[in-house]
Amino acid sequence: MRHGSHLNRPKKHSDRSCKACSRSYKPTGPAAKFCSECSPKLALAKRREITRNYRTRHGLIRNVGVGKGKANAKGTFDSQFKTGIP
Ligand SMILES: [Zn+2]
Repeated sequence: MRHGSHLNRPKKHSDRSCKACSRSYKPTGPAAKFCSECSPKLALAKRREITRNYRTRHGLIRNVGVGKGKANAKGTFDSQFKTGIP
């Protein structure tokens, strides 16, 4: 083996158990908490929560938790209002 080969470098982080599914995984960084399967799912859920809270806080959703339907505000109050000219 050649000295300094990147293919044979030692593992940076030892195996940990995922905080969500408690399976063992290889962390890619020092602060990693979740395995590569759980991480994107949890990130998406967290992003949805943040977006929903932002929209609620700024009055962009009329009926929180309803989904589609009757979500638009009247006239100039709506977030999608442009000019009123069709
Ligand atoms: Zn996991």
